[in-house]
Order: sequence, then C-alpha cells, then structure tokens
Amino acid sequence: MRCGCPQCGSFMIHSERDHACVCPECLARCYACQGTGTALTREAVLGMKKMMEIKTTEERMQDARGRDE
Ligand SMILES: [Zn+2]
Ligand SMILES: [Zn+2]
Repeated sequence: MRCGCPQCGSFMIHSERDHACVCPECLARCYACQGTGTALTREAVLGMKKMMEIKTTEERMQDARGRDE
C-alpha cells in the first residue's frame, strides 16, 4: 500500500523500521495505513464528532441565554 504525502503529494515509501510511510521529498510520515494505533478508529472519530456536536449545542444554548437576558 502506498500513500500520497499529505504535505507535498509525493508517493511515500514504506519504512519497515519506523512502521510508517516516509515521504522522500519532505520526510513527512504517515501512520494511518500501518495500524499502529495512531490512526483514529471509526469509534474514536464518531466520539469526537459527538463531543463537538455537544459543544456547539452548549454554545448555542449559551448564546440564546445571553440574548434573553
Ligand atoms: Zn512530502
Ligand atoms: Zn501511509
């Protein structure tokens, strides 16, 4: 599996030693495809989305309260 570099778009080279993809151009690393635990799981992404939704809801409620007072 080869990844495009998120920074410069070059094809990244897989490094066995680092357990990551390494960009030959800018040396950026990608762990997303290696399953080393740094990649966000689907559950983690969903949890973050939920927290962000709760936060925005609270902010909206505070705005509404601020307007009423
Ligand atoms: Zn790069
Ligand atoms: Zn990768």
